[in-house]
Formats: sequence, C-alpha cells, structure tokens
Amino acid sequence: MSESPGPVREPLLRMTLREDQDVFVVRQRGREVAAALGMEHQDQVRVATALSEIGRHAIGATVTFTAEVSGRPRLVIVVEADGIGISPPEGTAAAGRLMDEVHVERDRISLMRRLPAQVGQERLATAREELAASRPTTALDELSVQNRQLVSALEEVQAHRDELLTLNAELEETNRGVMALYTQLSEELEQTNQGVVALYAELEERSAQLREANEAKSRFLANVSHELRAPVTAIIGLTRLLLDPRSEPLTADQTHQLDLVQGSAADLLARVNDLLDLAKAESNRIEPNWAPVDLSAVFGQLRGTLRPLAKPGVRFEIADPAEPVELVTDEVLLTQILRNLLTNALKFTEAGSVAMGALVLDGRLHIAVADTGIGIPFAEQRRIFEEFHQVRGAHQAGGTGLGLPYARRLATLLGGGLSMVSEPGEGSTFTLDLPLRPAPEDDQDLPHVRAVLVVDDEAAARQVLREHLTGIAEHVHEAADARSALAIAARERPSLIFLDLRMPGGDGGELIAALAGVPELSGVPVVVVTGADVGHVPGAAAVLAKPALTRRMIADVVARVTA
Ligand code: ADP
Repeated sequence: MSESPGPVREPLLRMTLREDQDVFVVRQRGREVAAALGMEHQDQVRVATALSEIGRHAIGATVTFTAEVSGRPRLVIVVEADGIGISPPEGTAAAGRLMDEVHVERDRISLMRRLPAQVGQERLATAREELAASRPTTALDELSVQNRQLVSALEEVQAHRDELLTLNAELEETNRGVMALYTQLSEELEQTNQGVVALYAELEERSAQLREANEAKSRFLANVSHELRAPVTAIIGLTRLLLDPRSEPLTADQTHQLDLVQGSAADLLARVNDLLDLAKAESNRIEPNWAPVDLSAVFGQLRGTLRPLAKPGVRFEIADPAEPVELVTDEVLLTQILRNLLTNALKFTEAGSVAMGALVLDGRLHIAVADTGIGIPFAEQRRIFEEFHQVRGAHQAGGTGLGLPYARRLATLLGGGLSMVSEPGEGSTFTLDLPLRPAPEDDQDLPHVRAVLVVDDEAAARQVLREHLTGIAEHVHEAADARSALAIAARERPSLIFLDLRMPGGDGGELIAALAGVPELSGVPVVVVTGADVGHVPGAAAVLAKPALTRRMIADVVARVTA
C-alpha cells in the first residue's frame, strides 16, 4: 500500500489496494477525506460505504481522491485497475445509489459527490494538511469504527421509529378530534337545516294566507261595487226624472237639493266604478287588447277632454311625440292611465303648468306627466301607490285613493311600469314606461300552421290578426272582401281562414257557403271574428269576439280547429 497527498490541483490522496485488508483502509480514508472537506456525517458514511463496495472487487487498483472547487465543488474519486480490470464491476450498483454520479469504463470507475457550497481553495489546503498528518489505522480499528457507526445508525433508526410512533399517536388523536368536530358540525347543520325548513314552511303558509286574503279582498271589492252600482244608478235615474222639465214642477229649493243629490250620486258612481276597475285588474280579469295605437290620437283626445279641468292660470300642454311612434298596446288601458295621471296633476296644481310629453328610449316608450303643483311630502311618496292611500291635510281634494294603484296595475298589465319623482311645493312628475310592443310569449307551446287567410274590410283589424299570428302562421294572406278572399283561398290553400262577419258588399256567411261549395276548400276551417254578438255561426269552426282578441286566444283557436 502506498499513498501520497499532492500539491494544489493535485489529488488530495492516492492509495493502492494491495490486499483485502486495504478495503478497510480505503473505507476509512474515504471517510476522512469527506470529513476534511466538511461533508456531513451521513455523507461521510455514504462515501466510505461506496468505496468499500467498489474496493472489495478491485484489489490491485489505485484510488485517487480529488476535490474540484472551481464551479460547483465536488469530490471525485477514481478507482483505476491499470490493466488488471475490474470485472465484473460489482458494487457499482450500490455505489450508484450512494453517490451522485458513477461512471464505469473498462478498467476505471469514477465516483462523484457534491461538496458543501462553501468549500474553496482554503478549505482544500487545510484538508490536505489534515490528511497528510493522519495515518491509516489497522483493519481492526476500522472495524470498530464501522461497528460504532452501525450502532449509531441503529440508534438513529430506533429514534426515527419512536418518533414515528409518537407522530402516529398524535395523528390518531387529531383524527379523533376532527371526527368529533365534524360530528358536532353535522349535528348543528342538521338542526339549522331543520330550522330553515320549518321557517320556509311557515313562510309559505303565510304567503298562502296573504294570497287568500288578497283574493278575498278583491272578491269583496268586486261584489260590493256591483251591489252598490245598481242602487246608485237608480238614484241617478230617479233624480234625472224628477229634474226633467216634463215632470211636475219643483220649487227652486227642491231643484237645488236634487242637483246636489245628482252630483253626489254621480261622484259615488265614479268611485264605485274605480273600485270595480281595480278589483278587475287585481284579479287579472283584464286581458289587454293589443293593437297598433296612434299615440297622437290618444294625446289629442286627452287634450280635448281634460282641458276644462285646468284651473285658471294653469298652462295645460300635451306635446305630440317628436317622431311618429309605432306602438302596439291597449289603447283603452293606456288612455285610462294617462287620464288618471293628468287628472291628478290638474287637481293638485294651482299655478304654473301641467305638461305631458313622450319619448322613445332604448326601445321603450316613456310618457311623462309633469306638474308644478303642491308636490307630495317625502314621507308619503312611497305610500301613494297603496290602495286607498291619500295624502292627509291640505292635499285632501276628493277621490278614493285608488287612482294610482289602479294606474300602476294597468301599467304592469301592459308590460310597463309607473314611477314618480316629486319635490314638495315644487311639483311632481309621473312617468309611465311601456314596451313598444307586447313581449313575445313563450313560443314553445304555440301551434304552427303554414298559411292563414285573414278576411276583413278593416285594414287595422287585419293588422291586429297579423300581429297575433306571427310565430304561429308561416304566411298570413289578407283579403278585404269576400270575392278576393275566395280567389286567394283557391290559390294559397290556407290551413284556416279568419273571417269578419260583416263586410260591405258581402256577408261573411255567404263566403262560408261559397267555400263549402268548392271541393278543395270545403275542408278549410273558418274562424269567425266579429264585433257583433252572434253566438253560433253555421259552418264556422269557431267564433271569436273582436274587441277582446288576445294572442293566446288566437293560438288556442288555431290549435283547436287545425287539430
Ligand atoms: P285619488 O283618487 O285620491 O286622487 P290617487 O291614488 O290617484 O287617489 O292618488 C293618491 C294621492 O296621491 C292623492 O290623494 C294625492 O294626495 C297624491 N297625489 C297624486 N298625484 C299627485 C300630484 N300630481 N300632485 C300632488 N299629489 C298627488
């Protein structure tokens, strides 16, 4: 065995394995080199073990220890067999697991292991000195060192095992804790859930009660108003009779008193009618009659009828929309809403102006009624849309407190809304917003037919049907009289015909008979649409009342007669 520590850049140590015992020495030297280079205890054992694994099969080989400190510092150990060959290079597998890199060539094995990053030239020099000073011990010494290492490794393993046991126990405890917490939380959740379910059940019950109460109220309103209407109408009729110039003459006093009776009765009738309207709207018994509406005409009519209500000195202005508005809504209901708003504005405005104007914004029609009247106290603003609510005090000016709730109800029925801003003492603005046309219904359950013929002498009536039939009929053909109707029917073979009964130059009934006489057309169902109260029409598949037509009714009748 020979070894020699070299100068800088030279190997740290070189030794030759001459006999079996040198395996212990190379093991020991390996550990020493590792220790001198600042490797941790575990790494020292790795290097030593790898060397003894290789050394056992490389008797005769030279082992060179070098430290590379330029770049990432590492320990390089080269085992060279010098012609004797390390065959087979047993032990390299074990060494491979212990070292970072192991390269096997024919008679040369290189082992590499990372060194602590701070190892530099200085450390290298000290290591060199330390190694030069230390002498290899005997195989027996190395064996006892190895034993000590084994014992300490065993102790370490035992310590790890104990630690693991403690950890396991702790983990189990934690698990039990988590489980307990989970159970507690689940119970609490279940209790909360039960509470929520009970709360909802109660809520539902309350809602049902409220609904019932509301329905009962509407029924009551409707019944009472009906009951009241007959006697009030009788009073008005009788008073009119008494006041008739052809009746027995009355004294001036009597005439005056009867005038008062008549005035009061008319007031009473108006309020009873209000009640009846509201009850009807609330029970959804009002079906809007959707049709194209001429807004200027509606405005004109309101201008004419309401102007007399403006107090002296109050300007009353209704401005036509700047551009023509194409509007499909219920004209009667729209007029009612606007009349209501304008009447209120005129009633509560002593000076200044009451003005109405319209504007289309984002596909909706906004109609504003603005006044410079007494305004509405802030505290009351939220409540004026409630039924029977009237602002107290100087405000009180007759009425029932039903006008605004009714107007809002109608606005909703038309797919719109009614809102208000008011500044007490300055005035109020009520704004009605409406869709330009009714929202399309859910078209999924609508019947579908190929072609429909609409026969009516009035273009507006044909237009209404055309609107209702969109989405139901693929083609809508129109005829303005019976003769052209027959020709179009023969040409287009419609799936069904909508027919107005009374047309100038030919009765609808005659057309039904004529159709029945043509073999190809005799099977086409005819739906009579009429303003007259006719009941049954011979030859017609169905009869619909013109004023109250709705899209739903059209859809239903199409589905029924073409089934
Ligand atoms: P009424 O039939 O009593 O007029 P409404 O529902 O139409 O019932 O109105 C409720 C209350 O709202 C009215 O009594 C009035 O105090 C107040 N109000 C309505 N419109 C106006 C307005 N333009 N200016 C001031 N107050 C108004």
